Amino acid sequence: MTIEHLHWADQLAERVIERSKEKIIPNIKCQQTPSGGKHIGNLNDVARAFFVYKSLIEQKQKCTFVHTSDDRDPMKEVPKRLMDLKGDWHDSGIFNFNKYMGMPYCRIPDPFKCCNSWSEHFTKVWMQGVNALGMNPELYSVDQLYKDGKFEPYILKIFKNIKKASGIVTKYQSTKKEDYIPFDAICPKCGRYANIDSFDLKKKTVHFVCSGKSIKEKIAEGCGFEGDAPLNEGKLQWRFEWPALMCIFNTTYEPMGKDHWEGSWKTAVDVMNVIFKKEPPIPFVYEFFLVDGKKMSASKGDVYTVQDMLKIIEPEILLFFYVKRPEKQRDLELSRIFQLVEEFDFAEKVYFDVERARTENREENYKRMYELCMHELPKKCPKRIDYKFLATLSQLFDKETIIKKLKDLGHLDDAEKSDIELLKKRIDAANYWINKYAPEEMKFSLQDSVRAKFDEKEVKALKLLAKKLEKKYNEAELSEEIYKIANDTGIAPKDFFKACYKLLINKERGPRLASFILTIGKNKVIKLVSQI
Ligand SMILES: [Zn+2]
Ligand SMILES: [Zn+2]
Repeated sequence: MTIEHLHWADQLAERVIERSKEKIIPNIKCQQTPSGGKHIGNLNDVARAFFVYKSLIEQKQKCTFVHTSDDRDPMKEVPKRLMDLKGDWHDSGIFNFNKYMGMPYCRIPDPFKCCNSWSEHFTKVWMQGVNALGMNPELYSVDQLYKDGKFEPYILKIFKNIKKASGIVTKYQSTKKEDYIPFDAICPKCGRYANIDSFDLKKKTVHFVCSGKSIKEKIAEGCGFEGDAPLNEGKLQWRFEWPALMCIFNTTYEPMGKDHWEGSWKTAVDVMNVIFKKEPPIPFVYEFFLVDGKKMSASKGDVYTVQDMLKIIEPEILLFFYVKRPEKQRDLELSRIFQLVEEFDFAEKVYFDVERARTENREENYKRMYELCMHELPKKCPKRIDYKFLATLSQLFDKETIIKKLKDLGHLDDAEKSDIELLKKRIDAANYWINKYAPEEMKFSLQDSVRAKFDEKEVKALKLLAKKLEKKYNEAELSEEIYKIANDTGIAPKDFFKACYKLLINKERGPRLASFILTIGKNKVIKLVSQI
């Protein structure tokens, strides 16, 4: 197989290995600001790093996988909803946190009061999601790195080369003036960031007047305090902090969203080359995606977290969404989540040679994607029951009855204990999904008495169906019989189906009919027909 045919993660792993020949242990890095508004779109960063890391580990390549929590970033907005450590959402209006605007997240209290700070809380929420998917990167707090003096050599390098640094800033950011110094001090009086006007290389301090800073379109007021601060009581501007982090960790590969790629990455490359004199990491750009056709927005509150997603799909299936090609903007339709599940189930069957993909390339790709999403590869193809079918069943029966029904109908022949475990989880997921996200047309309730009206032909066909049901059928036989009844009574099959759904669920459409009748039990059908 040539390199272009490899999975994207394996292609990148090849490039990382190429660089590691210089006797450095490669580092893969990703990051997140613990703003409280992070969602499955932001998970791209971790996932695009993780798959390359996994490919390297499989090839026995030594490698580190690091996730920084950018907890010195200033608060720029309060998300509309906030998640507690149990994964439940709360309206942020009750907390009144606007007064902390412009302060570093690591110095803002935890709204839920269960952790030491805002950042500690939301880093925990975030990492719960990341690790629930089995990605487990090494976590570093940027605040701690400043406290430990890890940034100091890079801050000094920037100060010593301040002309070059301002040259880089003004080249890419037209709003910045030539005397701009890319470092802010934390004001000891009000705790907000203040622009600095000078630095002292000998004393290793910066001088500032706390005169307010603009945050997005707003201004965070300053308190007027004037003084000096040490280098670890401040923060490099993001465009300089990012390359400094790349140096601290010796980063070889780093994924980034399109916004960084088009913005701060260019600055970061110049800073690496001109000031730090280090080779920038291999970059990798991913596209953002939409959920139900919309961009997720923390300020509007319409975001989804890993915790939300794991209520409706298995972790390996959520990972499967991210293992696909990253360049295309995609839409995750929650009302059609079963399509992603079906594709994963298909990939699994392809992996175990139970199904074939259309072309050899697709076959290889499905197999590799499956492998990358599975932390432990099963020895044989697991038996997974169709998600949509379970969503149907969960509207009729409780979990134990569903399992019993599936056994009776032969769906669980040769099922292992592990398959039953998978099934139990999928029943819960499908049940949650049907209640929260499923489209109206998929929801129904089985009728106790007949509410619909039928014409003469329909009555004739339904009565014949009830009569025929006295015999024993499997799904295929019953399906054939339904068509035969339609034919024998002179009704179009689609009208007969409609009549059956009207009778059973008082709707014109419904789940696959033969399988549905066998699941609810033919006596139920016979009883309803007797009422018309
Ligand atoms: Zn907490
Ligand atoms: Zn101040």
